[in-house]
Amino acid sequence: MSIRVRLTLWYVSLLAVILIAFSVAFYTVLQYSLTSELDRSLQERAQQVSLGIQAFNTPYDVMRFGYIRLPELNVFSTRSIYIQIIDEDGKVLRRSPNLMGRDLPVDELVMNGLKTKQPVFETVTVGTVEMRLYSAPLMASDTVLGMVQIGNPIGEIRATLQRVLLFLISGTIIALVLAMLGGVWLVYLSLRPIERITETANQIVSAEDLKQRLPVPPTDDELARLSRTINHMLERLDNFFQAQVRLSADVSHELRTPLTIIRGNVDILRRMGDSPTTREEALNAVESALNRMARLVSDLLLLSQADAGMTLKMQPLDLDGVILDVFQQAHALRNGVELKLGHADPARVYGDADRLKQLLINLMENAIKHTPTGGSVTLSVYRGEDHVRISVADTGAGISPEHLPHIFDRFYRVKGQRVRGSGLGLAIAKWIAEAHHGTLTAESEPGLGSTFTLTLPLLKEQSAAGE
Ligand code: ADP
Repeated sequence: MSIRVRLTLWYVSLLAVILIAFSVAFYTVLQYSLTSELDRSLQERAQQVSLGIQAFNTPYDVMRFGYIRLPELNVFSTRSIYIQIIDEDGKVLRRSPNLMGRDLPVDELVMNGLKTKQPVFETVTVGTVEMRLYSAPLMASDTVLGMVQIGNPIGEIRATLQRVLLFLISGTIIALVLAMLGGVWLVYLSLRPIERITETANQIVSAEDLKQRLPVPPTDDELARLSRTINHMLERLDNFFQAQVRLSADVSHELRTPLTIIRGNVDILRRMGDSPTTREEALNAVESALNRMARLVSDLLLLSQADAGMTLKMQPLDLDGVILDVFQQAHALRNGVELKLGHADPARVYGDADRLKQLLINLMENAIKHTPTGGSVTLSVYRGEDHVRISVADTGAGISPEHLPHIFDRFYRVKGQRVRGSGLGLAIAKWIAEAHHGTLTAESEPGLGSTFTLTLPLLKEQSAAGE
């Protein structure tokens, strides 16, 4: 069932419940007040008749002569009010002329009322006329002389109630039909923007054009928010898609160079493999190309595992050991650059020793690569209150401001440099830093050198002890 139908049905059902409850309450109150109004007027009329009779007779007369004189009842009756007087045995003594010879019923209820001296209300049918009948005891002192019976047809009340009932039923039906039509229209109006969003989203999907965006309605409502969310999602999808395209282009480009070198050298070997020097040179070139490819493939593998949510082997760790290992490994690469161990605070962190070493080796390797012979690279550790900063500072070529924001991007390399790399080293380093809930930043002064700073949270026990 569509939202449109569901909303309309809910709306109409709710309205139906409200209207029916209102109609029932209204009808009940009306019926009650009309009936009680009639009953009150019957009581009043009975009282008038009783007073009239009492004006005709004194209790003394009644006691002495044993009978009562009755007034002419047409004085009290009107066209629609019937009056009858009965004695204590229920025998009819007098009735108003408009009854035209018929009796108002003297039934068991009335006889009971005579006995108990209590007035009686009932609804009876005389001939074909339905009426409300009130029988009130006629008293002389404490003695019941008989009863005054007042009848009033209730046809008019019944007709009024019927008319009201008809009006309520038809009114409810008309209101529900109108509400249904109005509801369908309103729901259509309010859901139309959603349909437009769906249509545009469909177009984007079928055109496979992730550059398109949904129009955002000017209102700041749920629909505007939905459009903005979908647009945001499209943008991320687009970026992701483009990154994939770029990645495959970069990877194939990176692999092409070593493959060309290998092919060229295999050619040389085939043609001039007899000369030991040529063979040595060609094999060295092939080996270095293979190393480059192996490094690239393992870097790519690591990054794709990182993307897939690889978890690190985290454990409490003393940084001294890590720093010492990195420093020793860097010595093998130093290539005429002086390596210095600067400030060296002891620090304990929660981390993966191998990955942290890999990160720092990447930084050291870059620093050495970009520092000319005679320059220096300094590795330092500073412990703060709840963080530790590890910096790798070189006195090399530096990085110009236009490149600095991008050096952590995958495959980003500053063009025209003497040394070549894959452009993945810093991307991996940044990922390792973030996986340790840390940060990796770079500052550089072109011509003077660069400083890369890794900040890691200290292990809780140490940061607490240090405070
Ligand atoms: P690569 O493997 O090519 O070195 P990286 O991601 O490690 O790739 O570095 C990206 C770029 O950042 C490099 O091409 C280089 O130009 C620049 N870079 C990194 N470290 C330094 C440094 N210490 N001094 C100068 N430039 C650097």
